[in-house]
Amino acid sequence: MSALAAYDRLLTQSREAFLLATTSALLAWDQETNLPKGAGGVRAKQLALLAQLQHERMVSPRMAESLAACESDADLLADAERAANVRELRRDHDRATKLPASLVGELAETESKAQHAWAAARSAGDYRRFRPWLDRMIRLQRQKADCLRQPGQSRWDALADLYEPGTTAAGLTALFGRLRERLTDLRQKARDGAVGDASFARVEVDEARQEQFVRAVVQSMGFDFQRGRIDRSAHPFCTTTGDDVRLTTRFRRDNVLDALGSTMHEAGHGLYEQGLEPAHRGTPLGETCSLGIHESQSRFWENHVGRSAAFWSWCWPLAQRTLGTVCNGHTADSVFRSANVVRPSLIRVEADEVTYDLHVMVRFELEREMIDGDLGAPDLPSRWDRLYESYLGIRVPDDRSGCLQDVHWSCGLFGYFPTYTLGNLYAAQLAAAMDRSLGGLAELLRTGRFEVVREWLRRNVHRHGRRHRPAELCLLATGSPLSAEPFLQHLERKVAVLHPG
Ligand code: ZN
Repeated sequence: MSALAAYDRLLTQSREAFLLATTSALLAWDQETNLPKGAGGVRAKQLALLAQLQHERMVSPRMAESLAACESDADLLADAERAANVRELRRDHDRATKLPASLVGELAETESKAQHAWAAARSAGDYRRFRPWLDRMIRLQRQKADCLRQPGQSRWDALADLYEPGTTAAGLTALFGRLRERLTDLRQKARDGAVGDASFARVEVDEARQEQFVRAVVQSMGFDFQRGRIDRSAHPFCTTTGDDVRLTTRFRRDNVLDALGSTMHEAGHGLYEQGLEPAHRGTPLGETCSLGIHESQSRFWENHVGRSAAFWSWCWPLAQRTLGTVCNGHTADSVFRSANVVRPSLIRVEADEVTYDLHVMVRFELEREMIDGDLGAPDLPSRWDRLYESYLGIRVPDDRSGCLQDVHWSCGLFGYFPTYTLGNLYAAQLAAAMDRSLGGLAELLRTGRFEVVREWLRRNVHRHGRRHRPAELCLLATGSPLSAEPFLQHLERKVAVLHPG
C-alpha cells in the first residue's frame, strides 16, 4: 500500500472514531438535559459499549499499520497538514495502547463508584465515606501515570499531559509562584478598598426574562443557532454532537449575573467548536487544541468581554429592555461593579477573577503531593484547610465546603485543574494581542462589534485545530510565549478602577 493510501485509510479510521465519539456525546447530552429519571440503566450500557468500540478502533493493528506506513514516508510528512494529523493520531493511539485493558476497566469501575461515594459523603458532610475511594483512586492514578510517563516526566506530568500537552509541574511551579504573590497583593488591595456594589447581583428576575436576555447576548456574540442550541442542565456544559454544538445553562431567580456569566462562558467554548474548519471535521486538524486553549475561549468571553465596562455600556439598554423594571435605580457602571466584586470565598466555581486561580493552585499543590509525594487520603482535609488559610486567607469550616467541594478527583481527573488557570492566562494574552492588532478592544465592545472579535479568534486560534501544540499556538497568536504578565496587568488595571486609592 502506498503512503498516500495509508494516509487516506488513517483519516477514514479517524473519522469513524469521531462518529462514535459524537454519538456518545449526543447520548450524554440527552442524559443531562432530557432523559427521564427511570431510564438511566440502559443509557450507561450504551455509553460503555460506544466507549469500548472507540477504544478498540484506536488501538487496532490496522491503525498501527496505517500510522507506521505514513511515518516512514518523508514526502508525505513534508506536507505540514498531513504531518500534524499523523503526529496527533500517533499521540492518541499511543495513549490508548499504553494502558492495559484491565487497568482501564478498573479505573472506569472505580470512577463510577467513587463518584457515588463522593456525592454521598458530600451530602452527609462526612469525608470518611469518601476516604477509602480517594486512596484507591490515588493508587490507580499512580499506576496509570507509570504506564504513560515518558523519560523526564514525573507521574503528575504524565497525567497533566493528557489534558494540556507539554505541561510539567516544574514549569507550572515557576509560572504560579510569581502569580500567587501578586494575586495575594491584589486580593489584599481589593479587600482594603470598598467591597463593591453587589446589589444588581441579587435582583429577582423571572427565568423567562433571564433566558431572553442571555439568548440575545449569545446571538450577538455570533453563536450560530442553525448549528447549535441552548438547553438547561444542573451544571452548564458545552458539547459537539456532530455538525452542531450544544450549550446548556441554568437560571437562578435571584442571580441573573450568574446566568449571564455561565452562558457566555459556555458560548465561548461553543464559538471555538463552531470555528473549527469543516473540511477537517473528524481529523485532528478539525479538533480543539487542548483544554487550556478551550478554557481560554470561554474565559475570554466571560471575563474580558462580559465583565468589562465597555461591554456593559453596550449591554445596558438590552438589559433594560429584556429584564424590565428591576434595572431601575441601576446604571451600566453600577452593574459593571456588581459583576466584579472581589471577595475570597470557599468555593472555586463561585470565585471572582482575582481569587479564582488561588483555588486552582491549592488543588495543584495537593495533587502533586498525592501523586508524586506521600500525601494520602487521611491527611487531605487538614492539608487542604492549611493551604486555604495560607493562599486565600480564610478558614474552612467543614469538609463539605472544603475538600469535598469538587467532583474532579472522584472522576479520576488528576492533572486537570491547572488547565483552568492556563485558560485564564491564555485568555488575557490573547485579549492583549487582539487589542493591539485591532486597535482597541474596548471600542469594539462598546459598539457591539463582536463579529470583529470573533473573527480574530477564528483566524488566530479556532481554524488551526490541533495543528500546533498549545505553547506554539500561543506564540503564533500573540507573538510571545505564555506569561502571567498580561493577566496580572488586566487585573491590576481593573482593581485600580474599582478600588481607587
Ligand atoms: Zn469552561
